[in-house]
Amino acid sequence: MASVTLQNLSKTFTGQRPAVNDVSLEIADGEFLVLVGPSGCGKSTLLRMIAGLESPSAGKIHIGDRVVNDVAPKDRNIAMVFQNYALYPHMSVRQNLAFGLKLQKVPKAEIHSRTEHVAGLLQIENLLDRKPGQISGGQRQRVAVGRAIMRQPAVFLFDEPLSNLDASLRGEMRRELAALHRRLQTTMIYVTHDQVEAMTLGDRIVVMKDGVVQQVGPPLELYNHPVNRFVASFLGSPPMNLVEGKLTTAHEAAVFRFGSHTVPVPESIVNQVGSRETPLTLGIRPEHLHAVNSKPAADSIPLAGVIEEVQPLGSESLVHLLIENQPLIAKTSSTKIAIDAPSKFEFSPDHVIWFDPAGRAMTP
Ligand code: ATP
Repeated sequence: MASVTLQNLSKTFTGQRPAVNDVSLEIADGEFLVLVGPSGCGKSTLLRMIAGLESPSAGKIHIGDRVVNDVAPKDRNIAMVFQNYALYPHMSVRQNLAFGLKLQKVPKAEIHSRTEHVAGLLQIENLLDRKPGQISGGQRQRVAVGRAIMRQPAVFLFDEPLSNLDASLRGEMRRELAALHRRLQTTMIYVTHDQVEAMTLGDRIVVMKDGVVQQVGPPLELYNHPVNRFVASFLGSPPMNLVEGKLTTAHEAAVFRFGSHTVPVPESIVNQVGSRETPLTLGIRPEHLHAVNSKPAADSIPLAGVIEEVQPLGSESLVHLLIENQPLIAKTSSTKIAIDAPSKFEFSPDHVIWFDPAGRAMTP
């Protein structure tokens, strides 16, 4: 087991803007760290540099107390699991599991006992004599994970390992990987573009955009306290509502105005913005917008608009609202909601996150 430290790591492919731009991260021994971001944000390139499959343009990579920039991938004591399994099709599951150790000339008895152990851990004992073509996608991915475990690496690197699986299998494999991590307590670095995967798996999440780390922290900290609009709308499904308006004055008080709606703005935010008539963004999560059934709750901010669409999900519904020409989504358990009806919704000012004109979240 080992920690991984990245120091000012960058990668620029010829003729392009940096794919990874000055990333510094400390990944603790035994941590499950998830790198997440949209396609092209540089997360795979970052992982591949840790694996030794890409060489950095600048910066240092430490695995444990060793700088590994010049160490060959096979000598980094890491194991990587890819999206496409990368199993040998002509070999049985048992041979696939054993192959790496055989190359390392590990004694047969040791290979046998590790194979049995790993097969038990992943519940693939009954598949050992089949070829990859004779098992399902989920089972193949389990074998690929098994092959990584066989090596007893100091660090596991996962590159979108579940994206070829259907939704229910992905959920099941997520639970299995989390349980595996609890059991093995080995450092895991996991790349995904799926925010649900990031939220459910990571001890900490790193959100990336355009090669740059936007925020690092435990999942709920990022969800509740995003540092900018990008993180706020990337984590959460549906994403956070972002309402555009401006800071202005009404009845001598500072308010956020959008159309005919006004929302009081806390003094600490007003002080950070400085001048009036500055554009601001109000962020509110869909689960914090509530339908007003009779009397609005005390201190709540009322919203009036039209319901454009209702998507029932079973236990709750997503209500698509148009308020002052801005689309908003509410997640509600209320069943008395009809399309095209005028609607009254409300939210508590405590749940608002304010973003400055540059898109940075302001601390109240
Ligand atoms: P995805 O989820 O689509 O895999 P990603 O976030 O993992 O995306 P990377 O694969 O790391 O992104 O790519 C980051 C940027 O670097 C992209 O603009 C990509 O086109 C570019 N890139 C990646 N590999 C190479 C390469 N070998 N040669 C040139 N450009 C590359």
